[in-house]
Amino acid sequence: MCECCGQVKDLYLPQPATVNKVKMMNETELYLHLSMDDELLEYQPGQFVEVSIPGFGEVPISISSSPTQNGGFEIVVRNVGNVTNKIHQLNAGDKIGIRGPFGNGCYPAQEAKGKDLVFICGGIGLVPQRSFINYILDNRSDYGEVTVLFGTKSHDQRLYHSELQEWMGRDDIHLLETIDDAHDSWNGNVGVVTTLIPKIESTLDSSLIFICGPPIMYKFVLLALAQDKVETENIFVNLERKMKCGVGKCIKATV
Ligand SMILES: Cc1cc2nc3c(=O)[nH]c(=O)nc-3n(C[C@H](O)[C@H](O)[C@H](O)COP(=O)(O)OP(=O)(O)OC[C@H]3O[C@@H](n4cnc5c(N)ncnc54)[C@H](O)[C@@H]3O)c2cc1C
Repeated sequence: MCECCGQVKDLYLPQPATVNKVKMMNETELYLHLSMDDELLEYQPGQFVEVSIPGFGEVPISISSSPTQNGGFEIVVRNVGNVTNKIHQLNAGDKIGIRGPFGNGCYPAQEAKGKDLVFICGGIGLVPQRSFINYILDNRSDYGEVTVLFGTKSHDQRLYHSELQEWMGRDDIHLLETIDDAHDSWNGNVGVVTTLIPKIESTLDSSLIFICGPPIMYKFVLLALAQDKVETENIFVNLERKMKCGVGKCIKATV
């Protein structure tokens, strides 16, 4: 039995899955829609899967869709090395291996009910956060105000263009976006994601805050939140780099 998720199955055996759709989101990030061949993948927001390409290896990748979505699940993969490069060569109809889902899911979906929620996302850190954001949008009346701060280094690294556009048009989610190094044509905020925090100061006190982004971002976001006297018990960080085997065998999480 898995110590993390309680599931009874062979944790080490990849199950066959089919690539239904692939689409480049920008120069380095590939979106994939997948479905398991033999069973549905049951997961919680914030969990990840091990994606394997026979002959090349296996990599942990966050699930970016919400479990409220039927018929498959979504991931986004940045091309950084051996296995991720092979994943970028996949086409619709190809087969891959999937293990999981793994991880406790860092989102307290029950505890967060009725509360105001703030998501602070840097770059590809939006990917796992999107799983919980869309879960909330599909259970909208269960939650309070939802604010998303999203920062990217440049225009080419923005993700989910049409979805962000849709969120901008909704009145039940408040999206603030920033670009570190913006073109003249950009009308939005310019600067790192922490430059958005003063704009939502009044909501911080009453909110649960979820952070996911590059390691350097955590330091400055946590400093900014400390300045605003946010209680640490209301802050949730996604520390994917602290993950080892994903199933609690090789190391126990200490953070
Ligand atoms: C829980 C979790 C969730 C994650 N979710 C996502 C996600 O949703 N999307 C995503 O894109 N990533 C995600 N990651 C990160 C992803 O798992 C890694 O990017 C992936 O494992 C890299 O594997 P690779 O074989 O492609 O790269 P590797 O070949 O292992 O290379 C990784 C890095 O090492 C460098 N490198 C490789 N070989 C050498 C060499 N010979 N000399 C010097 N440097 C080298 C590469 O340039 C690269 O920077 C997640 C990680 C964790 C732990």
